[in-house]
Amino acid sequence: MDITLLIAAGSAALAMTAIVGLRYLLTSGAFALATRAVRPGLYNGLGRQIRQEIGWSLLSAWIYGVPAGVVAFGWQHFGWTRIYTDVNAMPLWYLPLSLLLYLFAHDTWFYWTHRLMHRPRWFRMMHAVHHASKPPTAWAAMSFHPLEAVTGAVVIPLLVFLIPIHIAMRGVVLAIMTVMGVTNHMGWELFPRLLVHSPVGGWVITASHHQRHHEHYRCNYGLYFRVWDRLCGTDRGLAVP
Ligand SMILES: [Zn+2]
Ligand SMILES: [Zn+2]
Repeated sequence: MDITLLIAAGSAALAMTAIVGLRYLLTSGAFALATRAVRPGLYNGLGRQIRQEIGWSLLSAWIYGVPAGVVAFGWQHFGWTRIYTDVNAMPLWYLPLSLLLYLFAHDTWFYWTHRLMHRPRWFRMMHAVHHASKPPTAWAAMSFHPLEAVTGAVVIPLLVFLIPIHIAMRGVVLAIMTVMGVTNHMGWELFPRLLVHSPVGGWVITASHHQRHHEHYRCNYGLYFRVWDRLCGTDRGLAVP
């Protein structure tokens, strides 16, 4: 590979780091502001913790940005990945199906790696950083030890090689990933009680579910869906944030 291509790939990785970092700051910042309005004082006394959450999260933004940037570069220059731009390249019904496939694949990977990281040795090495947020805040969305960040950063860049997805649906996947990552940690439930306690809430994860993971540790390991938790007997229901 010649040097200009290497420089271009490096710039793509840097640009993506900036995008992921900015996306984190804007989304977490917006929900931190909302928290101040909806639950005044909820983050009182957590200034030091929040500064640490932001520090770890920005480091994670770099770890997420590099593989995403390199894959985006390969997609543009060499046609890597199964991302498509012509909406008619696949049947229209495939659009929502691809979204579900991505979310379910990501959720499955997350559930099992997360469960492994709760084994004492792995917990100390990789996952204690995330649980140092007590209670977590809207800034904790990407607060991971670098080793844990690597396990999260590779998922979408690998999936785009395996499962076809329209570029816009990939945007939707990233938007859901970002917003749910923030709202699940912010300490209060964004979604109406009626929805959270409905049959849909029985299968979909929101703050009430992940909050309980941060309180009790060895339960509620899922990311988007309660499917694996319920199948494996690790679902301990909802907290009341
Ligand atoms: Zn968490
Ligand atoms: Zn955990």
